[in-house]
Amino acid sequence: MIVYRTKNDLTRHLLSWQNEEKTIGLVPTMGALHQGHVSLVEKANGENDIVVVTIFVNPTQFNDPSDLDHYPRTLDRDLELLRNLEADLVFVPSVKEMYPEEDSQIYDLGTLDEVMEGKHREGHFNGVAQIVSKLFLLIRPRRAYFGQKDFQQLVIIRRLVEIMEMDLTIVQCPIIREKDGLAMSSRNTRLSKEERKLAPFIYETLNHAREKMDTLTPTQLKDWVTLQFKKQPEMELEYFEIVEDKSLTPVNEWDETVNKVGCIAVQLNGVRLIDNLNFD
Ligand code: AMP
Repeated sequence: MIVYRTKNDLTRHLLSWQNEEKTIGLVPTMGALHQGHVSLVEKANGENDIVVVTIFVNPTQFNDPSDLDHYPRTLDRDLELLRNLEADLVFVPSVKEMYPEEDSQIYDLGTLDEVMEGKHREGHFNGVAQIVSKLFLLIRPRRAYFGQKDFQQLVIIRRLVEIMEMDLTIVQCPIIREKDGLAMSSRNTRLSKEERKLAPFIYETLNHAREKMDTLTPTQLKDWVTLQFKKQPEMELEYFEIVEDKSLTPVNEWDETVNKVGCIAVQLNGVRLIDNLNFD
């Protein structure tokens, strides 16, 4: 497994693979890898000649400096894990390498970034679009792998590919969960033992909400979820929204002809956790 830190080294090596017409699968990550990331790498391995993994904690997508400061970094462990997974190349650039100067590019994401994460994390998706577009242009993958865990991000990346007019397939990968249902996340390592015990409540509530679809309207369901979190003093509900899966438009009435996803964000003593579930 090759590890590169500069764009020059990376592109020089990629060129030789591209000349041999090898298909490249890209897995962009921010490191602190867990089984969720592993599932993406394994899927990419099965579908491409070459797998490139990137590890970069992208500062332009953090609206909260404290979240950026506390983001877990476990590079040695990550590289060991990727070596065992037989990834071909890992790109670990510095901030200066990816942003030699400030990136002022603004992406037209339509209304996709006006709801949920976009509403609560000002500028987050523009930052995501900045780094992902740089990686796409640099690596020119045939396929790129993203988890449904960050559902809104996945929809926005699809839009980005349209804007960039790239010949690239975005592969959606299912959410990998702990045994108790908590969606795996690098941020879970920041939870104390007590907080970790409380966290599965998020997924449980999503499931209960889905069961109540037959008896409650979307508004009543939102109120019900809000009430459940009011009873949990350690947890603060940022949002619970049921959205159409492509437009991310909030659903106000049940319509069986559209695919719906229930999305949630919760602060658990300052650690921000997100999750989602198909509401079909
Ligand atoms: P991150 O390192 O958190 O930026 O995530 C990198 C990629 O891994 C993104 O496409 C995420 O959606 C995906 N991912 C993170 N957690 C999970 C999970 N529990 N299951 C599946 N994919 C995940």
